[in-house]
Amino acid sequence: MTTSTRSALGPAGQIEVLQRAAEGGRITPEEALDLYRFADFHALGRAADAARRRRFAGREHLATYLIDRNINYTNICTTACRFCAFYRAPGHAEGWIRDTDDILRRCAEAVDLGATQIMLQGGHHPEFGVEYYERTFSAIKDAFPQLALHSLGASEVEHMAKVSGVSVEDAITRIRDAGLDSFAGAGAEILVERPRTAIAPLKESGERWLEVMEIAHGLGVESTATFMMGTGETNAERIEHLRMIRDVQDRTGGFRAFIPWTYQPENNHLRGRTQASVIEYLRMVALSRLFFDNIEHLQGSWLTVGKEVGQLTLHMGADDLGSVMLEENVVSSAGARHRSNRSELIHLIRTAGRIPAQRNTLYEHLVIHDNPADDPLDDPAVSHFSSIAVERGVLPLVTP
Ligand code: SF4
Repeated sequence: MTTSTRSALGPAGQIEVLQRAAEGGRITPEEALDLYRFADFHALGRAADAARRRRFAGREHLATYLIDRNINYTNICTTACRFCAFYRAPGHAEGWIRDTDDILRRCAEAVDLGATQIMLQGGHHPEFGVEYYERTFSAIKDAFPQLALHSLGASEVEHMAKVSGVSVEDAITRIRDAGLDSFAGAGAEILVERPRTAIAPLKESGERWLEVMEIAHGLGVESTATFMMGTGETNAERIEHLRMIRDVQDRTGGFRAFIPWTYQPENNHLRGRTQASVIEYLRMVALSRLFFDNIEHLQGSWLTVGKEVGQLTLHMGADDLGSVMLEENVVSSAGARHRSNRSELIHLIRTAGRIPAQRNTLYEHLVIHDNPADDPLDDPAVSHFSSIAVERGVLPLVTP
């Protein structure tokens, strides 16, 4: 890939590539890198928005959100990623495990507040094999069959398979049969070897992460894919991350959405690294819409970049603003302080010029808020919950 300081495409070439991508045509990684580095910001955004409108023709006036709760079952982890402020090593005094009753209580609270999805997420506990996840998923599904379990990811599967001494195929089949609906895209971080090794030397390789996802897709367990940008990767490595995902998607079609977000730099061991700037992030959102001609949904991340920037993503190709997140601890531990609730997300989407629609995990529309007069003015239950959660330490602003 080029390292020159000038666009190889030139102005006319950029216009041709942007037009091709806006019309649903494929762009090469080299073209993508050129656009990412040199294209006019507004031209990039306009092309991405045109690609979004084309893909969602007839419902392009909508933007979706989800109500879900992240539940962390343990912070004990053997993988020690340098960017992670959430984990504690085995034996650490601040390590904890949530028992099944606690997890079920949190699910019940989430259901009461209208959640349709639970995202279980946690450390690589040295003793948590497939059996632990089978038990936990079965217990949740038995009690709350209406909740979608969009949880874990390739890293957790790789780890649990090793702990239990079974193949990844067996592990996925067993947790799927116990109730897992789909995998979250967490653990992708950056898939390119050099920056991945620098920030997560003990994690599986990016190639392996994709291999596990490909196996999961083959077994009927779809997923999302993510990108944590801003840990010291080059622009070329950012585009390579996208290419690696697009190649797998060409074979499986199993990635429902792509979710780029920015690394949060507090309370971890990646000293001296900076976050990606807002402009870099928005350029990545737009580029992702143009590059992924084979992934339908693109999520803007208000949690890490802020609500106003989240609104802007809806004009840079994103069709979804993600989740209300009744509980989130992992990214918050590293400094993400943004909070929201349902009425605020509806307001953000509406004032960004779209009609808000609540979706489920499958991106089916559950409620379309087409009449502003019917918008909830406040969500007392959710606000109340959030303040209780902060008091209980469920929503810590920073975990030292
Ligand atoms: S990111 Fe996940 S795997 Fe890495 S240290 Fe944190 S909890 Fe462990």
